[in-house]
Amino acid sequence: MADAARSQVTDRPNKRRAGASAGGLAVAESRPQVVDGLLRGARCTACRHALSQADVPWCPACFGPIEPAGFTPAGTVWAATTVRIPVGRWSAPFGLAYVDVDDGPRVLVHVAADPAPHAGDRVSFHDRDGDLVALDVPNHDGEQAGR
Ligand SMILES: [Zn+2]
Repeated sequence: MADAARSQVTDRPNKRRAGASAGGLAVAESRPQVVDGLLRGARCTACRHALSQADVPWCPACFGPIEPAGFTPAGTVWAATTVRIPVGRWSAPFGLAYVDVDDGPRVLVHVAADPAPHAGDRVSFHDRDGDLVALDVPNHDGEQAGR
């Protein structure tokens, strides 16, 4: 408790406070973004590893140099689930899927909740209020919910 009180009287930004809005350093936006119809990211010039973050200093796979890249915001579901507790502005239930972007990185996308898409389903997505949200959702109506 003493630590929490001390952090409230310092000017240093921490994970409990907004950075720039509290007068501290800017906090990087960690969510991938779709800008002008392309998923903003980067690609390693050495090993071709794809990233959904454009503002990283080097390739996380081989430490090689990276260059900005844009990816078509569509891909194949790698895994999906239904979340049954509210998280932030998302009320339960909501669906999440890891999507392997075509020739690009793997990103987390909000999808239909119940039933969630299956691995191997095709989805395209866009940016809505900072979150990636699926546009077209495979229809699995008629399946047993709550598997
Ligand atoms: Zn690399």
